[in-house]
Amino acid sequence: MVTFARSMTVGRLAGVEIRIHWTWLLIASALTASVAQVGLPELQPGWSLGVRWATAGVISALFFLSLVLHELAHAVAARNRGLPVLSITLFLFGGVATIGEEPRSPQDELVIAAVGPIASFTLMFLFGALYEASVLLDLPVAATVFVYLAVVNLLVGAFNLLPGFPLDGGRMLRAVVWAARRNFQRATVLAGYAGRTLSGALVAGGLALVLWGAMGGAWLAFLGCFLWSAAMPPRRRRTQGPHRSSHQQPAVANGPAPLPTADGRR
Ligand SMILES: [Zn+2]
Repeated sequence: MVTFARSMTVGRLAGVEIRIHWTWLLIASALTASVAQVGLPELQPGWSLGVRWATAGVISALFFLSLVLHELAHAVAARNRGLPVLSITLFLFGGVATIGEEPRSPQDELVIAAVGPIASFTLMFLFGALYEASVLLDLPVAATVFVYLAVVNLLVGAFNLLPGFPLDGGRMLRAVVWAARRNFQRATVLAGYAGRTLSGALVAGGLALVLWGAMGGAWLAFLGCFLWSAAMPPRRRRTQGPHRSSHQQPAVANGPAPLPTADGRR
C-alpha cells in the first residue's frame, strides 16, 4: 500500500508517534489557500486579507488535528486489543494509522474501524457546540472557525463510512462478512471489490465534475485513484511472522474541494 519513507516525527500523542509525510505540506498549503481565497471571502466578504489568511491557518491546523484524533481513536482501539501500533502519519490524502498486524477477530476489526468515524462525529458535535457558544457571545471569527470544523468533521466521518476497503466502512463490511462466512480472505477480497467499485465511481464522478467545469472534481478523481490502488490489501500469508504484515487504517480527507462549499450549509 502506501509507504511513508520520507516522513518525520513531530511528536507523540497518547504514546503514539505522530509523523508528517512531505506530501502533507502540499495538501496543507492547498487547503489553507482554498479556505483563505475561496471559502472565507464567500462566508465573510468584509474580512481583510490578513484576517482571512490567519483564520484559514487556524482552520487548517484544527482540521489536521481532527484527522490525527480520528487516527488516534483507531490506534488506541487497536492497542487495547493487543495489536502493535507503529505510528500515525499525515499525508496527501489525510491521515493513516499504521498498525503492525491485522485484527485478530471480526469483532476487533469492527471496533477498530468504527471508532474513527465515531471520533469525527464527536468532534462535529463539539465544534458545533463551540459554534453556538461563539454566536451567542458575538465572536464572528471563532464562529466561522468552528462552523468550518463542524462541517469538515461531518464530511470526514461520513466519507470514511463509505463501504469500500480501505475506508472504515469497507473494514466494517469486511468484519461483517468475516463474521458471517468465517473466512478472512474471502471477506478481504469482497471488501476490496467494493473498494474498487467505490473508487471507480469516485474517479468517474470526479471526471464528470471536471467536464462540468467544477475543478474540485479533479481532487475527487485523484482520491479515487489512490483508493483504487489501496483497495486490494496484500493477502495475509501464514508463513509470515505476525509482525510482518502492516495494516493501515486511513482517514481520507475530502481535500480542499468540500471546504469552499461547506459555507453553503451554514
Ligand atoms: Zn478511519
